[in-house]
Amino acid sequence: MGPLTWHGDAVNTAERVLAYGGGWLDRAGELRTDPARLSALLTDATTVVLPLWRDRCLVDGNGPVRLTAERASLVRSAAGETVFLGLDGDAAVFAADLSALSEQSAVEMAGVARAVDVRALVGRLEPGEAAVQAYARGLLHWHRQQRYCGACGAPAVAGGGGHVRTCTGGECGRLLFPRIEPAIIVLVEAPDRPERCLLARHAGAPEGSYSTLAGFVEVGESLEDAVRREMAEEAGVPVTDVTYQGSQGWPFPAGLMVGFRATAMSEEIRVDGVELLEARWFTRAELRERVAEGRPLGRVDSIDHQLLHDWLAED
Ligand SMILES: [Zn+2]
Repeated sequence: MGPLTWHGDAVNTAERVLAYGGGWLDRAGELRTDPARLSALLTDATTVVLPLWRDRCLVDGNGPVRLTAERASLVRSAAGETVFLGLDGDAAVFAADLSALSEQSAVEMAGVARAVDVRALVGRLEPGEAAVQAYARGLLHWHRQQRYCGACGAPAVAGGGGHVRTCTGGECGRLLFPRIEPAIIVLVEAPDRPERCLLARHAGAPEGSYSTLAGFVEVGESLEDAVRREMAEEAGVPVTDVTYQGSQGWPFPAGLMVGFRATAMSEEIRVDGVELLEARWFTRAELRERVAEGRPLGRVDSIDHQLLHDWLAED
């Protein structure tokens, strides 16, 4: 896919766009409720269809394919759901889910070489392309998980260009919207000098592998409440001065990562031994040493990486 048009707020230069984010498509929400227009767009010569197979994009030698014309129509006819992602200039962009096919059939139908997770490609893709593929992945994933109404159990059918499902149970008829699961991710600073930050080894992480602390927001909590609770629960560290740093859509499958900084009220650490196996304070010099040894600070495409590098850059 070629570079996409930026539709974000160009004035707000303070906002940093992390991997998978940004207004790369005009989401054109008004078209979702215009089935006649959407159906006309589907067969337009400029329309692009992105085929996906079970959370993976379908790639040829140049990266994820964008199909047009006959190939697009063929893929749509075999797809479980085809959803409207938005407009790239005047061209409509749809995503089609080939998950019901075998991997080989999906690959052949799309005329590509293989199926690959966008996260494995992120360093090599244009930012807009990674963002649109992640958006398609998350939306199609939701359709596969929301085939039935959770209230009455009747089948739910897609509508609104793929941005809503409607329960077909006569008296129920609930509207089901794509779910997003917010999580907080926090760089905790020590209360006193020397300046240090708190990193932890999470359950399942290899020896010597540390990252920032994170957790899901619970029902009825503000994001700040979740930061205070998670830090106290997982690391035994009460925190104050909870400050928003930025956010990142993380549709793998349904996350929204919200980054914070906070200051510990005490240096004492008491990990829960379940989610965290170990946690300790690191100075900037220690973190730089780890980077020099070739140990990355978080995934390169994640807000975790950004929080740590921002902190390192302050001294
Ligand atoms: Zn229902």
